[in-house]
Amino acid sequence: MSEDTVAPAELERSDIERFSDERFTGDNVAIVTGGASGIGRATAIVLAENGVTTVATDVDEDGLEGTVEKGEELGVEGEIHALPGDLTDDAEMAAVVEEAAELGDIRFLANIAGIQHIDAIEDFPMDTYDVMHQVMLRGPLYLSKLCLPHMEEAGGGVIGNMASVHGHYVTRDKVAYNMMKFGIRGLTRSIAAEGEGQNRSFSISTGYVKTPLVMNQIEDTAESRGITEREVVEDVMLGQARTKEMMEPVEVGNLFAFGFSQNARHLNGNDLLWDGGYTHTYE
Ligand code: NAD
Repeated sequence: MSEDTVAPAELERSDIERFSDERFTGDNVAIVTGGASGIGRATAIVLAENGVTTVATDVDEDGLEGTVEKGEELGVEGEIHALPGDLTDDAEMAAVVEEAAELGDIRFLANIAGIQHIDAIEDFPMDTYDVMHQVMLRGPLYLSKLCLPHMEEAGGGVIGNMASVHGHYVTRDKVAYNMMKFGIRGLTRSIAAEGEGQNRSFSISTGYVKTPLVMNQIEDTAESRGITEREVVEDVMLGQARTKEMMEPVEVGNLFAFGFSQNARHLNGNDLLWDGGYTHTYE
């Protein structure tokens, strides 16, 4: 791999952070949406390595199998179960939660699945807006609604939501994505407000993470602009950030595990902004 190209994400077992936590056992269950790819896959694997029985859910059944296989290949400590389901379908989500509850006590929920669509407001297709709303806001609320009683019964749980730098500031032509990421921070705070300290919530905001979606964009942008892949990352994508490296999906997975752990017991309703200085510095 030359210096001009960008290495794809790799997940080694040694990259996974282990947190000592009495709740990180096989009796407790974590549900992870978007579990077939990118950040969701990495988070499912990190939680399983931390000993939690993990349910990876997604519409992409082949991708879910890939997650289970990757967990097996790495020899992670806990179980990973693939339970396919579409976040736009309430009945399918209810079935996922019901099945997950049979595996143990549902203590953790990671709302990670998300999609992007780029168009100016005047051109934005409203049916695409509706799907994004269902996947990125209504779905996380519905899953929270279904999981909270289980968490209550188990003696407390934690809901982690994937936001973005776009939950802090916005860029043009991403109106629905911006709205969903600001919205998920509202959901996060609402869960904290009603959780009485027993059920916690937090969100995670990152800049660019090396997931398949982003890696494909790098190749295409390099080709169309006639610049190297590294220049696309450093000048185009992370031009505004101080740290000129994208995050690895496993680093985001590690943040979810930290947020779920008792180390983060005072993190409630707020956001972990891991953006390499993208949002709060100005050259
Ligand atoms: P990804 O495309 O690799 O994974 C997203 C997953 O969501 C896919 O597996 C997809 O099948 C699933 N999904 C889509 N529609 C669904 C539906 N209807 N029901 C169930 N699952 C569905 O993307 P990623 O880069 O890993 O992103 C994951 C999350 O992280 C998203 O919320 C994204 O907005 C956020 N995020 C990503 C980055 C980044 O740079 N990659 C940065 C900040 C935030």
